[in-house]
Parts: sequence; structure tokens; C-alpha cells
Amino acid sequence: MKNKEYYIKRNQLMKEDYLNYNTTVSKIAKKYGLTSRSLQRAMKNLGVVRERKEATRLSVKHKDYSWLRKPEELKVKRKSIPQGLRYKILRAHPYCSVCGATYQQCPLSIDHIDNNPTNNNENNLQVLCLECNYGKYALKE
Ligand SMILES: [Zn+2]
Repeated sequence: MKNKEYYIKRNQLMKEDYLNYNTTVSKIAKKYGLTSRSLQRAMKNLGVVRERKEATRLSVKHKDYSWLRKPEELKVKRKSIPQGLRYKILRAHPYCSVCGATYQQCPLSIDHIDNNPTNNNENNLQVLCLECNYGKYALKE
């Protein structure tokens, strides 16, 4: 398991790249092994917003419209975790499994350990904070 500092550093670099308007979102996403949409979602959740006007200008300049397309992996039907199960897991484990952050420090989410969003088996679910969850996602090849 990578540590918290690693994820913070990685997210920091991602934010810097994201706010540097010299390159397109899809190129930044590729660099970190993410899809454009997941990068944008991560940035939005971390409170970093790229102006749409700028993003559009860049994609026109680079003739790169891939960030507008829906990636294959999103077409997999996601099964939502039943609220009761979500509650049970968070109640038993109210902190991040990687860095130990509580919800007061960072928003917590339920992560699928095997990265399969349809596998809602209780032992496939763990609590991760937002930073660690995106860190894990960024490590996925
Ligand atoms: Zn964490």
C-alpha cells in the first residue's frame, strides 16, 4: 500500500497539470493512467475547476475531443451499494483503510477492493477517503 503522502503529492501534481492550460485534459489523464472523465470528477471533488471555455479552446486547438466521449468502462452497469450495507460498513469502520482519516478530515467513500463496481459483496468493500480512493484509481494501469 502506498502512503498518504504519496497520494497527496500525486493529487498535487495532477492539480498543477490540470490548472496549467498548455495541455488537454485527456493528455493529463493519460499521464496518470486515468480516463478524462475520472480525472475531471476527481478534480471537481477536490474543488479544482477548469473553465469550460478554456477546455474547449484547447481541445479545438489540439483537435482532441476524446474527453467528450463516454469511456468504455463507464458503460459497465454499476450496481449501487444498498444503503443498509453502506451504513453497516461505515458504522463498523468510520475511517479510511489506508491513511486512517475520519470524515471530519476528508470525505469517506466505499471502495470496491477488486475494482469491479458490480461486485457489492461485503468482503469486497472497504472505506477509503477521497484522496486515497483517487490515488488508488490513479495507480490502476
Ligand atoms: Zn485515506
